[in-house]
Amino acid sequence: MPSQPATAAVSAPTLVAVSAPSAKPDAQAAPDADSNIDVGAGVQAVTSTSAEVSPATSASAGPSARPGAVTATADSAATDPSPATAATFDAAIADEVTERTRAWFAIHRRDLPWRAKEAGPWAVMVSEFMLQQTPVSRVLPVYESWIARWPVPSALAAEEPGEAVRAWGRLGYPRRALRLHAAATAIVERHGGDVPDDYNALRALPGVGEYTAGAIASFAFGRRAAVLDTNVRRVLARAFSGVEFPADSLTAAERALAEMVLPQAEQDAASWAAASMELGALVCTAKAPKCSQCPLVELCVWRALGQPPHDGPPRRGQTYAGTDRQARGRLLAVLRDATVPVDKSAFEPVWHMAEQRERALAGLLADGLAVRLPDGRYRLP
Ligand code: SF4
Repeated sequence: MPSQPATAAVSAPTLVAVSAPSAKPDAQAAPDADSNIDVGAGVQAVTSTSAEVSPATSASAGPSARPGAVTATADSAATDPSPATAATFDAAIADEVTERTRAWFAIHRRDLPWRAKEAGPWAVMVSEFMLQQTPVSRVLPVYESWIARWPVPSALAAEEPGEAVRAWGRLGYPRRALRLHAAATAIVERHGGDVPDDYNALRALPGVGEYTAGAIASFAFGRRAAVLDTNVRRVLARAFSGVEFPADSLTAAERALAEMVLPQAEQDAASWAAASMELGALVCTAKAPKCSQCPLVELCVWRALGQPPHDGPPRRGQTYAGTDRQARGRLLAVLRDATVPVDKSAFEPVWHMAEQRERALAGLLADGLAVRLPDGRYRLP
């Protein structure tokens, strides 16, 4: 890391303008199942569960984008009227940002099990599925038991999908469990049981969207991929664009900026992806960024501007109590806890409103999280 900071960074407009006028931060995924998780600001979350968008290529970047990167995004890119351009991007400052962040990461990174040398691609893949919309603290115990039970994809694929749902427990958004099971099955069928190391092969797996494919390619195989989760987007928005929060949906300009910032060398790019994500999770948090502890404090445009508050529409929260999501969660818990199929009446004590209970049950059936047997009873798939 250079000894002198890049002083030019304090001039906010000199970098890429990524902000959207109607920016709302931390895009929320559409609710897709039960959970009481808070997927609001500040959690280790991405929004890729159903955002199955086309793989990005370097062609989607602005004219000054460094070539060769895949952008792994949490959302499909929205049209943005102010894309990044070569005229507004300072590669030297970007290099300084990535170097400082990587140096910080080398010291402060959390010792998470999926980051262990012996963890392997399957561990990374499982963790990426679980970390979508769920904070690390809640993922850890489920991850540990999951990997102990199914240390390789073939072990999971050999079980019924319902066992994956059962083991998912209360992580929330349990369709992720079905998707992970389907991906494990495809890995066995198409790749001999080994997680593929190629982005396109990963992307072709069921349930693996653009973000997840890029994250696995980067974290497990050291590929060059701009991995844009909620935390990374927030860091980029503040450090480069001078706004408190990124737009609600990922913009083309954000993609272009991420690709321009991404280091050229694969190894550096992979460590930047992990480091920027960690910085957003631990330091540049949504509600209370710890700027005094941040390696980018002298470079951060938002900081240099005096930390102007978010001026877009109010940020969305996500209610849970009383929602169909909560009802689905309660009904699914009945199925998870049952060792034999249950009668419909078993759902009545956990959710008293009949109409909402029916709706929740219909949703679980439609999503493949519950099965209705010919005799009218219900069980996991
Ligand atoms: S200086 Fe503060 S706002 Fe800027 S990147 Fe660091 S923590 Fe975030």
